[in-house]
Formats: sequence, structure tokens, C-alpha cells
Amino acid sequence: MAHRNSSDARQQAIVIGGGMAGLLAARVLADHFESVTLIERDGIATEPKARKGVPQGNHVHGVLAKGQEILSRLFPDLVPALVAGGAAPGDMGRDFHWHHFGVWKARFDSGIGGTLLTRPFLEWHIAERVRVLPNVRILEAAVDGLAFDPGGNRVTGVQIRSQADGGSLLTADLTVDASGRGSHAPQWLEAYGYRRPAESIVKVDVMYASRLYRPGAGRRDWKALMISPRAADKKMAAVFAVEGNRWLVTLGGLHGVQPPTDEAGYLEFARTLAVPDVYQAIAAAEPLTPIATHKFPANIRRHYDGVKPFPERFLIMGDAACSFNPIYGQGMTVSAREAMVLDELLRERTRQGAGLDGLPACFHKKIVGIIDSAWGPTTGEDFRHEEAMGERPWGTALIHWYTGRLHERCADDTSLALAFYRVMHMIDPPAALFRPSVIARVLRRRPTPADGVVSIHGLRAGAHR
Ligand SMILES: Cc1cc2nc3c(=O)[nH]c(=O)nc-3n(C[C@H](O)[C@H](O)[C@H](O)COP(=O)(O)OP(=O)(O)OC[C@H]3O[C@@H](n4cnc5c(N)ncnc54)[C@H](O)[C@@H]3O)c2cc1C
Repeated sequence: MAHRNSSDARQQAIVIGGGMAGLLAARVLADHFESVTLIERDGIATEPKARKGVPQGNHVHGVLAKGQEILSRLFPDLVPALVAGGAAPGDMGRDFHWHHFGVWKARFDSGIGGTLLTRPFLEWHIAERVRVLPNVRILEAAVDGLAFDPGGNRVTGVQIRSQADGGSLLTADLTVDASGRGSHAPQWLEAYGYRRPAESIVKVDVMYASRLYRPGAGRRDWKALMISPRAADKKMAAVFAVEGNRWLVTLGGLHGVQPPTDEAGYLEFARTLAVPDVYQAIAAAEPLTPIATHKFPANIRRHYDGVKPFPERFLIMGDAACSFNPIYGQGMTVSAREAMVLDELLRERTRQGAGLDGLPACFHKKIVGIIDSAWGPTTGEDFRHEEAMGERPWGTALIHWYTGRLHERCADDTSLALAFYRVMHMIDPPAALFRPSVIARVLRRRPTPADGVVSIHGLRAGAHR
């Protein structure tokens, strides 16, 4: 820690929201500020249960490899504790049985690891680790607005509403908004004469319907079973082996296709997916919970990097900055990467003896690349559905042709599947899929049975190249 004097003091930081982005921000800020107050209207997780402020907690949440790497850096004992608690470690190539774009992906040891668990279990483990940080205080309260200096140039804290003391003002040297997709930062800024951020919106109308099951008897060669549609099909599903020897099953639909929430309808929806595997799995399993639903109308990206002027000492991150179509499982990893940017920027300033001025502009500019690396490929996939409303980038048709061929080739080319997984898990940038060696494999003639490739229930013998 540094900068104990002058207006660049790093005494108090405030984080609004105790979801994944807020917890990670608090963890990082604890290394740079005397004291950090994390304000969460639900109070942070005290048990592995879905809570009101994070309704998506009932649904399948995958942590991408990059996200897991960052979590392990911030909390070295986290992944072992998750696994000891029953979460299933899994290899993307070996343990995920994935029907995507009309084909089963090749199965192979990819070395790309993940952990299968429920979102509340993960959030609770992280919350427990943030709670015990000696300089982090958790406050159960709702933030109502920002406080500014008399000139309106600098955020000096937040106005809060709590059961304990009604309304009050909390001051801080830095305030981070991690209050999720419903963030009021645009209105709070506007109230002080700032421009609202421009928004990019890509409409997808996703609905999830999820429940926990006790798996039926029998051996399976997967820990996660996923069915992702090939347009114009709009039905998808995921079965994740999670802690407690249970399965978390999510059925989903796009663009108004809605999985039913009654017993018979739920099974029937599963039966009519592109392949019968999820239906067969859940028909033989025992439901443990009611069916929970969640609707996600659109990807929303708020371009805070373009708001000029922007007040000092105020940052926006996580879903508050960009909320992605959940079917690609990116939100938590993007939040983790943004937390690392915040950490790096503060470290850099400490090294240079620099203060906090200019930090928001730097932060919002730096996270553009991270958001782009998720937004581009996934909204690109969303645009395969003609109902996806939003601004289609130039060249979308060509990219669809190329990536469609790549997806198909991942059924029998493990090198391509690996390249794809590395991008999907944010280990490599999307440009890695356009390296000459990858292009050459995508464009190569598809192997035929005469080439000696034999398909055995999605496992392709002779195909591990
Ligand atoms: C159905 C669904 C499935 C998803 N699946 C995945 C997945 O597989 N993988 C993945 O990485 N991501 C997934 N996501 C995205 C992921 O949930 C988020 O990106 C991630 O949790 C980061 O969100 P966040 O912390 O910014 O916001 P949230 O998790 O929404 O947390 C915001 C927090 O702020 C609190 N809050 C809000 N307003 C206030 C206020 N005024 N004062 C105080 N507190 C406030 C809320 O109570 C909440 O706790 C999914 C999302 C959905 C909707």
C-alpha cells in the first residue's frame, strides 16, 4: 500500500455490489487501500444458496479456464476447497460431451481445466475468503446514488440506505460500481450533468429453466453434457455434475422459445432437442428442486470509455459495464479479468508514485479489449439467428461461413478443437482462430470414412491429430 498523504490518499475504497465482480474488486482493492467497504443490499453470501440480488444463481454457471486461473491467483486455496467440497474438476476436451453446431465435438485431453459447481457454491466460497480480509468491511445496504465534490468533478462516495441507520453518506477515495446489469450508474452520472454512456444492445430473448437432479444409476463418460443449437434451431441444454453428487440441468431457448416449467413439458422440451442425450439422462434421474426460470432479453454493453468528461474516482465493472448472453459463460471471467486490470493499474501507479487521477479513463479504456474479446465472437454467434436485433458488423456473413466450418471440423480435428477451446476459455485472443495454420486446417477437405475415421458415439477413433 502507498500514498498515505495528500489528495491521492488511498485510505478508503467503496465497492457497490457483492456479486462476483464486486467480491473480486474488493479482494484486489484490499491490497491497495487502507480499508475497503463492500456494500451489498443482500449482504454477501453466507451459505451456498441462490439469493434475491443474483437470481441467475439457480442456473448453470461455467467458469472459463482464464477465470479459474485468476481466481486461483487471488485465492490460492479456492479450487482445492471447491473440489474438497464436492465440485467436479473437468477437462474441456475429455469431460465435456458437447453437441454444438450440429456435431459432437471430438473428445481428447485438452489440458484446459474447469470446475463444475453451482454459482452459489462458488460465490459463497469467494465471499468467505473476502469476509476474512482484515481491511474489508461488509455493509448490508443499498446504494441510492453517488456523492460528488462541490465542483462535481470527482466522486467522493455514495449515498446509502440501510435498515440499521436509514440513509447516510459514505466517503471514499475510490468508488467502484459492480452492481450488475441493473446498475444505476447512467442515471447517477446524468443527475450530475454527465452524459449517459452509449449502449450497444443485441437482443437474444433467452430463457433458462433449471433444476437440480440426483443422477440415475449407470456409468457416464462425461461430467458435463451440453447441447447448443445450430440456427435456426433455438433450443439448448446443459447438464453439469455439481457438488453434492447432483446434476444442475438447464434447458434454454432463444428468441421466444421458452422451456416449459411443468414436469411433462420440461421432459418433452428435452426430448425435442437436437440429440436425445439430455432427455435420456434426466428421464432416468430424480428431480430434487422445483424448476426455476430466468429471462435474459439482450446483451447490453455500456461504453463508459466514450463518456467524456468522466468524473474522477469512479469505475464501473462487471455486468454493470457489459452483460453478455449467458449461453457463452463469459461474465464471471470478464469480471475477473477486469479485476486484474484494476490491480495492475494500481500497482503501476504505486511504482510510479502517481495518484488516482485519470484512473477511471485508463481503466475504462483498458477493459475495452477484454470486453471486445468476448463481445465480438459471441454477439457474432448470436447474429446467426435472424431475429437477433442489433448492429451487425461488416463481414458477418463471411465470419459465419468460416466459423461454421471451424465448428464442424471440431468434430474430428482435435487441433482445431483445442484452438477453439483456447479462445472460448479466453486463454488466447479471438484472432488466434485466424492464424494461417488454423485457417489451413479449417479449409482442408473434410475426412471421409474412407480416410479411416470411425465414429463411436461421438468419440472418434483415429481422429486425434
Ligand atoms: C442465467 C445466467 C447464466 C449465467 N451463466 C454464466 C456462466 O455460465 N458463466 C459466467 O461466467 N457467467 C454467467 N453469467 C453471468 C454472471 O452471472 C455475471 O456476469 C457475473 O456474476 C458478474 O456479475 P456482477 O458481479 O457484475 O453482477 P451480479 O452478479 O448481478 O451482482 C450484482 C450485485 O450487486 C448487488 N446490487 C445491485 N444494486 C445494488 C445497490 N444499489 N446497492 C447495493 N448492492 C446492489 C446485487 O444484489 C448483486 O449481488 C450468467 C448470467 C445469467 C443471467
